[in-house]
Amino acid sequence: MYPALVRHLLIPLHERIMGRPTLSMLREMERTQWWSRDQLATLQQSKLRRLLSHAHTRCPFHRDRIDAACIDPRSATVNDLSRLPLLTKSDIADHRERLIDKSAPGLRDATTGGSTGAPLAFTTDRARQAADQAARARSRRWFGVNLGDRELYLWGSPIEQSAGDSLKSLRDHLTNQRLLNAFQLTPKAMTRYLAILKDYDPVHIFGYPSSLSRLVRFALDAGHPIRTRKLRAVFTTGELLAPADRAILEEHFNVPVADGYGSREGGFIAHQCPYGAYHVTMESLIVELIDHAGKPVRTGEVGEIVITHLDALGMPFIRYRTGDLARSANNSCPCGRKLDTLKMMEGRRTDLLRRADGGHAHALSVIYVLRNEPAVAEFKVTQHSGLDLDVEIVPRGSMGAEHQSRISSLISGQLGGAAVRLHLRDSIAPDPSGKHRHVVSEAHGL
Ligand SMILES: [Zn+2]
Repeated sequence: MYPALVRHLLIPLHERIMGRPTLSMLREMERTQWWSRDQLATLQQSKLRRLLSHAHTRCPFHRDRIDAACIDPRSATVNDLSRLPLLTKSDIADHRERLIDKSAPGLRDATTGGSTGAPLAFTTDRARQAADQAARARSRRWFGVNLGDRELYLWGSPIEQSAGDSLKSLRDHLTNQRLLNAFQLTPKAMTRYLAILKDYDPVHIFGYPSSLSRLVRFALDAGHPIRTRKLRAVFTTGELLAPADRAILEEHFNVPVADGYGSREGGFIAHQCPYGAYHVTMESLIVELIDHAGKPVRTGEVGEIVITHLDALGMPFIRYRTGDLARSANNSCPCGRKLDTLKMMEGRRTDLLRRADGGHAHALSVIYVLRNEPAVAEFKVTQHSGLDLDVEIVPRGSMGAEHQSRISSLISGQLGGAAVRLHLRDSIAPDPSGKHRHVVSEAHGL
């Protein structure tokens, strides 16, 4: 498809059918990114008042909290936010009905897709989907990549792929996107991916840093360096971009590599500009960094990222705890944008697993198997240097031997027949760092 046709006709048409104001929001964000700090603060305050008023009227859960904090939504300031309690994943799991405005247009159910933390069901609405998409499109334009430019993405989600597979392929085709499954990085699959990469000649590539760097290392080992003619940038997300992975991607693709930080439930929170700063999407999000006692950290200190999504009216996320860590950074960036900046911290890295028949599989391929099991409340997967795995499960109720062996064989199947031992537990202790890591690989780097 011609990029101009996709950009000017097909994407606008798709967004109009979906009823999403993505393109007008993108135009607006193109303007506001150059605003002064004062202008941005004013914008945030007015959008916060709109959000709190809406949540107060429509969502009983938030109404109770706003009333208890004696906040008048119509005159609230960003500083008043700290008087509201934090919103946790368990609040959302326990009170979802009272958190949703059922009259909001374009409500859609979703589940978190990250690799740490318990899976969480939540709801998005049209305005919020548009805001997140617009922020994404803007970050692409920082690197000369426009809507409609050919994109190759190395991604994986068996659940999404099984539902409406052909419809998604058609949409991808019409919007100049091409998906490669990041879960199964076997030599055979990677050889095919390299051929597609050459033929498709994308303008931008998007994926997990661990999977992209694995593909590049495979190409180098095979003596077939990747040659792209049109490529302008590589975008990563979902895990901390390790310096070694960034270096290999930059060197091999010979284009800028930029990382984004966000989550399905939190939105498009921050993205690197060409100078490497993670700029916060301040037009859509208020980001706080808090310490263990819930107090704001000082500039330069590490804190947990807490977000308030200013465009999420269907299911407001007000002071939502992400569980991720960042350091607030010096806000002056040579790119000239006054949007706040963050320095992301280690703690989001997921491991690649090794397949018994050669190659790698993304940790999420196993995580999705376990998440698909309603009888699994919590889990932890450890792969040892012999490629065998221990899978610890905290079951919801009882789990019979037959059920256990079915889960074992599903996991083994994702890993080319690796040996799986399943253990039922009452609880699973967090790492010494306090993080719950769902997948740990001791076979890494073998
Ligand atoms: Zn910048």
